[in-house]
Amino acid sequence: GEIPPTPVEELRPTDLFIAVKTTQKYHNTRLKLLLDTWISRNIQQTYIFTDGADDVLRKRLGSHLINTNCSAAHSRQALSCKMAVEYDTFLSSGKKWFCHVDDDNYVNIWSLVKLLSNYNHFHDVYIGRPSLDRPIEATERLGDTNRRPVQFWFATGGAGFCISRGLALKMSPWASGGHFTVTADRIRLPDDCTVGYIIEALLGARLIRSPLFHSHLENLQLVSHAQIHNQVTLSYGTFETKWNIINVLGAFSLAEDPTRFRSVHCLLYPDTPWCPARILTGP
Ligand code: UDP
Ligand code: MN
Repeated sequence: GEIPPTPVEELRPTDLFIAVKTTQKYHNTRLKLLLDTWISRNIQQTYIFTDGADDVLRKRLGSHLINTNCSAAHSRQALSCKMAVEYDTFLSSGKKWFCHVDDDNYVNIWSLVKLLSNYNHFHDVYIGRPSLDRPIEATERLGDTNRRPVQFWFATGGAGFCISRGLALKMSPWASGGHFTVTADRIRLPDDCTVGYIIEALLGARLIRSPLFHSHLENLQLVSHAQIHNQVTLSYGTFETKWNIINVLGAFSLAEDPTRFRSVHCLLYPDTPWCPARILTGP
C-alpha cells in the first residue's frame, strides 16, 4: 500500500469547484433532492451544468447554473460536450480543485476537503475510484489510417473525481475550448474515460485510487453506517433489477426517503429544519 500523505494545504470549501452534471428531465427530481440536501450547504462552491433553460432554477442559482447548450441526449458526444464546459468554467473560476459529480451523488464536503488537503493543488493530482479492475484498452485514432492501442486507468464519473488546478492546466491543449470533444472522438469513449486518457495516456500522470468515492456500480450496502461520515461521495440507483442504496438508519423510512440521501443529510447536519429532532442510531 501507499504511505498516507501528510496534510499539505489549509483548504476551505470555497477553494473547490464542484461541477454537478444534470439534464432538464431531472431538474425537479434528482437535482431537487441535491438542492434540498448537500448543495444547500455548498452554494458557493457548486456549479450545476445542464442542457435546458429553467427560470426557477436560474433565480435560485444565478451564475452557478450553467446552461451548456449541449444536446440533451445521453450520447457520448452530448456528455463530452458537458464535460468540456465544466472544464472551461473551472479554469476561469480560479479555484484550486475541479471536482465532477453526477446528479445521483451526495457530496460530503468535509470529507472531500480533508482528502484534498493531503495534496498540493499545484502538483498533478487526479483522484477517484476506477470502475474497472484493470486499465481500459482503447484504440487511439491519429488521422484516417494511423491507429495504435492505448491502455489507461480512469475514475468513473458516476462516483465523482477531482483534478488539481496544476494538472487541469496541463490538460488544456486536449481539453480546453472545444478540444475535449475532439480528443473524445480520438478514442470514441465516454467523457470520464476521455479524462483518464488525457491524464494517464497523454500526460503520463497517474490516477490515485480512493475508496471514499462511491457510484451505484458497486454494492452500496457494503458502506457501513459507521463509515458514512467519512465517505466523500455516495450514490443510489439500480443494479441489475434491484435497488442499490446505502444502508443508513434513522431519520426517514424507505418510503419517505428511497434514495437515503435525506437520512444521510440529517445524520451529517442534524440542525436542518426538516430533520426529525431525534435520529435513531441503533437497530
Ligand atoms: N445525463 C445527461 N443527459 C442525459 C442523461 C443523463 O446529462 O440525457 C446525466 C445525468 O444527469 C447524470 C449522468 O448523466 O448526471 C449519468 O446518468 P445516469 O445516472 O442516468 O446514468 P448512469 O450512467 O449512472 O447509468
Ligand atoms: Mn447514475
